[in-house]
Amino acid sequence: MARYTGPVCRLCRTEQKKLMLKGDRCKSDKCPINRKRATPGKDPKVRPGKRSDYGLQLREKQKLKRIYGMQEKQFSLFFERALRMPGITGENLFALLERRLDNVVYRLRFAVSRSQARQIVLHGHVNVNGKRVNIPSYLIRPEDTVEIDETSKGLVVIKDSLKEFGKSGVMPWLHLDPDTMKGKFLAVPRRGDITDLADVKEQMIVEHYSK
Ligand code: SF4
Repeated sequence: MARYTGPVCRLCRTEQKKLMLKGDRCKSDKCPINRKRATPGKDPKVRPGKRSDYGLQLREKQKLKRIYGMQEKQFSLFFERALRMPGITGENLFALLERRLDNVVYRLRFAVSRSQARQIVLHGHVNVNGKRVNIPSYLIRPEDTVEIDETSKGLVVIKDSLKEFGKSGVMPWLHLDPDTMKGKFLAVPRRGDITDLADVKEQMIVEHYSK
């Protein structure tokens, strides 16, 4: 699966929002958004024009896609799946995105960013229900256990991430035992539970794909 390999801070600057793609750096003063860097390719002295409805919907979709580190093809497949599910499409979309294995690894604090979580999964360091799974888009179900493989528990990158972020706990739909590096996906989160992405307007994404 192709993936974006360009400068990731540029993605945040385009959206003019912190997408938290770089772990520690995102919380530091070095973050270009904290430094109020301008949108790439735009003269900072020129006032931005009014965006059309289409433009606003497109930006909202791009923002969510970039937060979860996905390419267009896979993101649109997730959307189609959300559309076929009973219930509200935007909420279904969030439920599917949160079930991705790379996202769960990130949320369990085994990685400082979703892109690092993706690498950890791809390199075979993660077991789901005791079996190795190296597919970042694998969908986790309620009651599944997600843990670092015994042979990978000494990896500095995982230990550092747990040390740095483990103290702040995990989201309420997850359980983490940092000592054994084992986590559990307790339930599929409802939209209102995903508080760190509360400002994403999923209805605009639904409208974008409905055109
Ligand atoms: Fe985005 Fe993090 Fe870069 Fe800031 S440091 S622009 S939040 S990726």
